[in-house]
Amino acid sequence: MEQLKAEDEVVGICQELIRFDTSNYGDNTGPGERKAAEYTAALIEEAGLETTLFESEPGRTSLVARMAGKDPSKGALVVHGHLDVVPAQKEDWSVDPFAAELKDGLIWGRGAVDMKDMDAMILSVLRSMAREGRTPERDLIFAFFADEEAGGTYGSHWAVDNKPELFEGATEAISEVGGYSTEIGGQRTYLLQTAEKGLSWLRLLAHGRAGHGSQINTDNAVTRLAGAVTRIGEYKWPVELTKTTRQFLDGVTELTGVEFDPDNPDELLKELGTVARFVGATLQNTTNPTVLRSGYKHNVIPGTAEALIDARTLPGQQEKVLEIVRELAGAGVEVSYAHRDVDLEVPFSGNLIDSMIDALHSEDPGAKVLPYTLSGGTDNKALSKLGITGYGFAPLQLPNDLDFTGMFHGVDERVPADSLKFGVRVLDRLLSSY
Ligand SMILES: [Zn+2]
Repeated sequence: MEQLKAEDEVVGICQELIRFDTSNYGDNTGPGERKAAEYTAALIEEAGLETTLFESEPGRTSLVARMAGKDPSKGALVVHGHLDVVPAQKEDWSVDPFAAELKDGLIWGRGAVDMKDMDAMILSVLRSMAREGRTPERDLIFAFFADEEAGGTYGSHWAVDNKPELFEGATEAISEVGGYSTEIGGQRTYLLQTAEKGLSWLRLLAHGRAGHGSQINTDNAVTRLAGAVTRIGEYKWPVELTKTTRQFLDGVTELTGVEFDPDNPDELLKELGTVARFVGATLQNTTNPTVLRSGYKHNVIPGTAEALIDARTLPGQQEKVLEIVRELAGAGVEVSYAHRDVDLEVPFSGNLIDSMIDALHSEDPGAKVLPYTLSGGTDNKALSKLGITGYGFAPLQLPNDLDFTGMFHGVDERVPADSLKFGVRVLDRLLSSY
């Protein structure tokens, strides 16, 4: 019988994973990840590796499997993905978001790029390595987490807090939102993620004097909150270039001949096409008001009013942003964290970076590779608590006309089947040689 190859099964696995609806509503009310995790574990065990499945809450299932390497003195590499997806509003889509149709050479469905594509790539490569008895250089720890889309409380954070032994010896990690191609100045360029913004979900609580809506009240919590929210929402954060972003922009200038002008970032950003959506938000801190809550009756002035701010901070600036938000909020408005997570930034150098670039070049010689900062976050934040350095590397060669960055959490999310096959070849090269 002919040996099954990773490239042959990656599309089918991706489709099967999409068909498990693992929608994450952010309040622990969704279907959970258990079915997808059991399917994933079965695929790994079929190839001869043991898995450890665990649940933070009923149905919120993650799993880890370890493949022993030749040299135990080398730090283990964590290769991880998340099994949950953001919800999909069926009526907005042109296909059933959980049918995983293969149409015009693309897989359509929720999770096609975020990130059941990479989950399937990881599974296909590890199965092929295990089947063929190929031993990696170092231990590989494969992890599939629940709950990434809500910050990893029931997934990666729970795992590193409660099962740190599963990551014993790990020093580095790779996962989503990096390693994909885009065309810059006519040159195919792969963006490797080496930094993530920090996450500060802030809560504003304004206090005032409660009373009758017909009376004069100069101490109104709603008025006070509205002023604070307006000042914070309209605040013009300056453009500040981190090391990673500077290196990225220098690369773009080299490819396009367009210089970066901090007073007019759009000039250079428009050279990036749709990737500008990812990069634009990494040039500055952001503080977006997202929720307002107050009052219970039209003629009653409430004593308090609440707002939520989604702040994303540049590396090293979380404290500074909190201070500025407090100043903008003003007297009588308390500012506190509802949830926070760290920023990450590591140099674009070292053996793993070299190996990732080599792996890309083995399939796409002459391609340019640049580091970039992610404006969102990944499970690498949680792994950083164990001292593990994480990178975004889910390699995909993409056609130019696909609005890739718009696919993340977008309607009609889809990915070319050929991109997955390319990704499998690159990932196999990396995992079997690093
Ligand atoms: Zn994701």
